[in-house]
Amino acid sequence: TGDQDLQFRDPEKAEQLTDKLESLMDDIGEPVTIMHVCGSHEQAIAKYGLRSLLPDGLTIRMGPGCPVCVTDMPEVDEAVTLAEDGKIVATYGDMLRVPGTEQSLDDAKADGADVRVVYSASEAAEIAEEEDREVVFFATGFETTAAPTAAVLVDDPPENFSVLSAHKYVPPAMEIVAELPDTDVDGFLAAGHAATITGYGLFEEFVEEYETPAVVGGFEPIDILFGLARLLEFIRDDEPGLANAYQRCVTEEGNVPAKELMWDVFETTTGEWRGIAEVPDADLILSEEYSEYDARERFEIEPDVGGADPLTEDCICGDIMAGTADPDECPLFGEECTPQNPVGACMVSSEGPCKIWLEYGGQP
Ligand code: SF4
Repeated sequence: TGDQDLQFRDPEKAEQLTDKLESLMDDIGEPVTIMHVCGSHEQAIAKYGLRSLLPDGLTIRMGPGCPVCVTDMPEVDEAVTLAEDGKIVATYGDMLRVPGTEQSLDDAKADGADVRVVYSASEAAEIAEEEDREVVFFATGFETTAAPTAAVLVDDPPENFSVLSAHKYVPPAMEIVAELPDTDVDGFLAAGHAATITGYGLFEEFVEEYETPAVVGGFEPIDILFGLARLLEFIRDDEPGLANAYQRCVTEEGNVPAKELMWDVFETTTGEWRGIAEVPDADLILSEEYSEYDARERFEIEPDVGGADPLTEDCICGDIMAGTADPDECPLFGEECTPQNPVGACMVSSEGPCKIWLEYGGQP
């Protein structure tokens, strides 16, 4: 409720927590880098100016937590090709301006293709019910949107409906980032909303294998500061622990029916996360049982693309998503690359770090 939200924005509590962070950093006695893995965390950190409250030596970096940003160019090319071939392509609004190799869906729309913005997979299925033509849902996002896509597919959607899945599964990407030689992360603030589906218990293996603490955090200022304090406690105690700092929404096992639904419809495969790396088991594709709704099975999708805009070669979005660079280190930031004319995907989405940093005046 609104009252609950206010409770998690209480300035007095925030001050107590920042004092605690300061004293924990004194105990630790060396710089600490925490990575969060969620665009909504970056939005909240920027909106409430939380970086300015952090003690010296404590750095928060964003990891691969923006689904729009990590959707790979060839996936956008597939959607553009389907739209140009006369299919109705329905997708989330943020996806329209994400650059493909040559074109975005917005460009295809300007050239006459039928591209529609939807707020959910079920809305895309409703379009298919009303239309005779093929409707392809370009499905993007992490576990939180994969589960609703799965719910539509198990509910006997219209025959002219199919899914082009660019859904991604976060935990394997965290492992890749933890292994990258240039990424020096002391602890992970895991995304609260993905954990409402997967449960926080999922991170146990990660914490054990990488001997790095992880804390699931919510999205209000107090949630984030509290999550950081739990992480610093683990780091001070040299304990690779796991904690749930978002107990009002997240349980150990998560939403079991949603998880079952998701793993009924999807399976994982190796896939490229834009600019970061090839990540094993982190792309979600339709399982054999639902292959009749798989746009890649139903249509021959052969994007005829030449080369990318040379400017995109300067885009360091992948490094930002891997936690090795900040948006203002990109030479194009706020100059050639703006939300009106995005060069890279990180400037498109409301969860994209470049767009967030520019909106909040540089280095939030
Ligand atoms: Fe890429 Fe634009 Fe961000 Fe630079 S500012 S990293 S070009 S999205």
